Amino acid sequence: MPDAETLLPRGATLRIAHLYPDVMNIYGDRGNAIALQYRCEARGIAAEVVDVRIGDACDLDEFDIVIIGGGQDREQRRIADDLCARGAAFHAAAESGMPMLAVCGGFQLFGHRYVDQDGSEIPGIGLFDMETRHRGADVPRCIGDVVLKTPAGDVVGFENHGGRTYLGAGQEPFGRVIRGYGNNAEDGGEGARTNNVIGTYLHGSLLPKNPELADELIRAALRRRYGEGIALPPLDDSAERAAHAAAAATAAGRSRATKKAG
Ligand code: GLN
Repeated sequence: MPDAETLLPRGATLRIAHLYPDVMNIYGDRGNAIALQYRCEARGIAAEVVDVRIGDACDLDEFDIVIIGGGQDREQRRIADDLCARGAAFHAAAESGMPMLAVCGGFQLFGHRYVDQDGSEIPGIGLFDMETRHRGADVPRCIGDVVLKTPAGDVVGFENHGGRTYLGAGQEPFGRVIRGYGNNAEDGGEGARTNNVIGTYLHGSLLPKNPELADELIRAALRRRYGEGIALPPLDDSAERAAHAAAAATAAGRSRATKKAG
């Protein structure tokens, strides 16, 4: 492996737009921003996380990665108009290969719409060809530890959602469910993926326990800004791998227990 100096441009900098961190942040989603920043700085890449709140100006051309967390129906209602007003810019950035990570409630609003627990429609930006429907207060939520199979390897996390998501015919899922409920507890799909935009129900937070996925977002951002040849020097991920293995074991234990209980 040639040394990092020659591969990573000197003074490489990445700017991460963290959408609505004060509203859309449950089950540790802020950890995704922290993980991206840590994994950049550990390689000498300067990483700036910029909080983008409702009403804040945000020129996506000045950013390299976008992340958004989850939130209850009430929080999603609060941000929906602001997010939709930025819709066209998100479509253009996605087409240009900008990596984005949208988790749970944020993921749902990257689709066309979310019909919430009360039956009210919350509009989305339609980056993913999908829609989500909450099945109502008397239908159990999809809660628990999850293991997914994705093209980039197994991904682990935690889900808690009342909404059921249905992908359009041509919309690629992010992964296939090995353990857990996924988009709708019916078709085995989880999340959605369009270009470098990844949507998933997985909280936890997600990226600290899935370092390959974090690096995939960082690599995509570096290549978009500095050119195709960029490779990332490896990090010592022993702690991350141990956390990943522990989460996968918990999920396996839970699903065995559920089956036995079933
Ligand atoms: N409010 C949405 C639902 O219940 C998303 C919840 C979340 O972000 N965890 O499905």
